[in-house]
Amino acid sequence: MQTDTANPFHHLMQIAPRPKIVFEHGSGSWLTDNHGKRYLDFIQGWAVNTLGHCPDAITQTLARQASQLLNASPAYYNRPLLECAEKLVRNSVFDQVFFANSGAEANEGAIKLARKWGQIHKNGAWKIITFHNSFHGRTLTTMAASGKPAFAAIFEPKTPGFNKVPFNDAEAVRHAIDAETVAIMLEPIQGEAGVVPATSEFMQMLRKLADEHKLLLICDEVQTGMGRTGELFAYQGYGIEPDIMALGKGLGGGVPISALLAKQHACVFQPGEQGGTYNGNPLMTAVASTVMEALLQPGFLIQVRKRGEQLRAALTTLSQQFGLGEVRGKGLLLALDTGVLDAAAIAKACFENGLLLNAPQAHTLRFMPALNVTEDEITRMLAILETRVTGS
Ligand SMILES: *Cc1c(COP(=O)(O)O)cnc(C)c1O
Repeated sequence: MQTDTANPFHHLMQIAPRPKIVFEHGSGSWLTDNHGKRYLDFIQGWAVNTLGHCPDAITQTLARQASQLLNASPAYYNRPLLECAEKLVRNSVFDQVFFANSGAEANEGAIKLARKWGQIHKNGAWKIITFHNSFHGRTLTTMAASGKPAFAAIFEPKTPGFNKVPFNDAEAVRHAIDAETVAIMLEPIQGEAGVVPATSEFMQMLRKLADEHKLLLICDEVQTGMGRTGELFAYQGYGIEPDIMALGKGLGGGVPISALLAKQHACVFQPGEQGGTYNGNPLMTAVASTVMEALLQPGFLIQVRKRGEQLRAALTTLSQQFGLGEVRGKGLLLALDTGVLDAAAIAKACFENGLLLNAPQAHTLRFMPALNVTEDEITRMLAILETRVTGS
């Protein structure tokens, strides 16, 4: 066994290239590393920290709930679990909730639910249409559902049954439907693909095709849900109602919780078919309730849209000034195409200058700040980005 005791990073499996610093403290839009250097954070745990780093509302909920009840087992009800489910149902078109711990797990639950529904209601139909460049998670089945090119050839063999077609191409979907198709599953805005929104016509056509062919429409809102797009849930901006929705990321405001929501007709799990040791535990569901309460405060989502417009306008100006590419997305999930410039190199240079940005594609930067990011923080972010664009 080879160990390097001088290298504290050595004991972790290398699943991503990470800078050799350690983040020790976070507050709002700011992180501080082990050298005392401060970073303006426009990644926020991958669109996770809805209210920024360590917001009082969440730390207080955690402290209160931690001293009251941590885990009563998924075999019993607990108060935060019931309250959180009620909040989600009351503010969406869905009737019932199943809580899990990660986005992948919620999506995996959606896939199981669709297959079960197909068994009961559609002659055992089980295939699901998904999309090129989509991302649904890293379990074997959600990798199989994903259209991420890098996933195509690893960890074979994959779970069968995912028929992938081009995004925003309703004709391709129509052609892909056969008697064994049970559902269509999509991200309203493809996040990892580089923030690519479904068009309104496309989303409405999917709803129509689903109705015509007796299919379930599944929205993976792990990234787009919980106020990220300026709507509580992105489907609301499309004027359609999915049958099933997965939430994750922003739901926990930084702690691990996800949720699978469905309309009554699709709530077909029988006892014993779905579960999980930590699912619906009071500590995490209490936090998710706190996040929901914050989003439902009068004016909160209006503010998200305002900051989104500010960021979009400024990115558009920057793009025009320096001959970059398209600005895409909605609310505070935005992307800037960098044209010929290497987005990862820009993100790296920004990091050196105390700004955390993500480059999901070779020529795309993604912006996913806290939903309560301030006007001034957006201005400061742009000032750093501008020097890195001109300097690269
Ligand atoms: C992040 C993400 C997932 C996976 O969530 P995990 O919590 O990492 O398992 C699934 N779908 C979408 C759209 C995502 O952005």
